[in-house]
Amino acid sequence: MRCTNCGKNIEAEDNWVEFSCPKCGKTKIVRCEKCKKLENTYKCADCGFVGP
Ligand SMILES: [Zn+2]
Ligand SMILES: [Zn+2]
Repeated sequence: MRCTNCGKNIEAEDNWVEFSCPKCGKTKIVRCEKCKKLENTYKCADCGFVGP
């Protein structure tokens, strides 16, 4: 599994989140601790939704 934001492999990380796209609910968004902290935006590959 990789962080949706930075592409980092999060399997070795402790602190990360996985959630479904708030718009289409189809795509899983994965964010590592760093991207969570920085509040990087993510983009859904399915519907193009961009969110914090
Ligand atoms: Zn990241
Ligand atoms: Zn979506």
